Amino acid sequence: MSTAPKHECPCGTTLPYADCCGRFHAGAQHLMAPTAEALMRSRYSAYTLQLDDYLLATWHPSTRPTTPFHHEPGLRWLGLQVLSHEQTDTDHAQVEFVARSKLGGRAHRLRERSRFVRDDGRWLYLDGVTG
Ligand SMILES: [Zn+2]
Repeated sequence: MSTAPKHECPCGTTLPYADCCGRFHAGAQHLMAPTAEALMRSRYSAYTLQLDDYLLATWHPSTRPTTPFHHEPGLRWLGLQVLSHEQTDTDHAQVEFVARSKLGGRAHRLRERSRFVRDDGRWLYLDGVTG
């Protein structure tokens, strides 16, 4: 295994951040993630970079949190693995993924099936079931 270059996107593609999720983070109003999977990846990257505005902007209004995000101090995100991406109809999709992190020397593994809705041409995170 080779060591990933520093500028590689946090979401685990081999693309540089600027050519991957960075495009969506920088241009949230102009450039929309073309698929639910791309949006999911960009949201994972946004978590690792603590881009709360982006997380809120890509959250469906009906389920969007109203309290500020709590980022666990010292938590390190280690990687994302997308297990499946299924578009169930034109405007609905599900993405199942595993996100790994480490906190205080202990490894955590979050497995979630997230639901996404396309609203006015734009994919939004609706909710997710973990486990
Ligand atoms: Zn990315």
